[in-house]
Amino acid sequence: MSEATVIDGKAFAAGLRERVAREVTKIKDAHGITPGLAVVLVGEDPASKVYVGSKAKQTVECGMESIEHRLDESTSEEDLLALVNQLNDDPKVNGILVQLPLPKHIDDQKVLSTINPDKDVDGFHTTNVGRLWTGGDALVPCTPYGCSLLLKDHLGDLSGKNAIVVGRSNIVGKPMAALLLAESCTVTIAHSRTDDLPGKCREADIVVAAVGRPEMVKGDWIKPGATVIDVGINRVEAPEKGTNEDGSPKTKLVGDVDYAGAAAVAGAITPVPGGVGPMTIACLLRNALVACCRQNGIDDPDVDF
Ligand code: NDP
Repeated sequence: MSEATVIDGKAFAAGLRERVAREVTKIKDAHGITPGLAVVLVGEDPASKVYVGSKAKQTVECGMESIEHRLDESTSEEDLLALVNQLNDDPKVNGILVQLPLPKHIDDQKVLSTINPDKDVDGFHTTNVGRLWTGGDALVPCTPYGCSLLLKDHLGDLSGKNAIVVGRSNIVGKPMAALLLAESCTVTIAHSRTDDLPGKCREADIVVAAVGRPEMVKGDWIKPGATVIDVGINRVEAPEKGTNEDGSPKTKLVGDVDYAGAAAVAGAITPVPGGVGPMTIACLLRNALVACCRQNGIDDPDVDF
């Protein structure tokens, strides 16, 4: 069996960001509007700080305005809600993203449901969830949207394909299933209580793994020729890379799929890193641009492939 085609999410994401940048220039020239994306970070979570920094940098590189609010860990829920309402009312802010996780004393759902759904570039507001499942003009969560773009780019028409989504989170699994259903796939949503998960995966033409368990999906779970999308990002010890100065083993990133095993059977597969990961911010920028157009009565931009 020959090795699977590697789906290059890094290159695809770069192309998407270029398209977004071109459309931003057009909107500036034609309407004098610069799309604005506000990102709110509460606290000092190191991974969140890195994400927020990358989001701000790529926002500016696309020609949009980046509005950053970095708040102290001790910020009250009331103050955070007041900031969200201020951003809702600010016409220069077209997209609002509140970086999760929030400190424990703040109710995530309360904050997310305070964001104006038309500025909800993460697509987590229940109004956008409802729009997605009912075929409306939703802002769709960025990671699953990125997966669907990669799938359509690689496979073309998805209709009639058997797809399994392993994971049922609100952020990845459920919206992924909704997107595949909208493309007329026959969709199975699997989770920790699913019976005979390997057997169910083996029936699928498309496997999307979003579990958060390193290399859980094995090669012999994959139907020969299937397309495998690995959403997982897991940092694991890599003793083969040696040790750090303090004697601890070096680490590496792996997905939720056993890459070597699956690549030997699949028709195509996304690597980790360099697969789904880079698509998330590219789709966030796409969503911010779409939100800006809709808020200003401009036709949806030409950014979808
Ligand atoms: P969650 O922890 O919210 O959800 C994990 C899901 O996997 C749950 O539905 C859970 O089932 C299911 N699950 C856990 N163990 C098993 C098992 N043994 N068998 C079958 N299903 C199982 O994770 P997320 O959806 O937020 O993230 C999933 C992965 O994607 C993570 O690795 C995360 O790092 C990555 N991720 C990557 C992003 C990117 O930009 N590329 C963005 C977001 C996430 P149950 O509901 O029954 O508990």
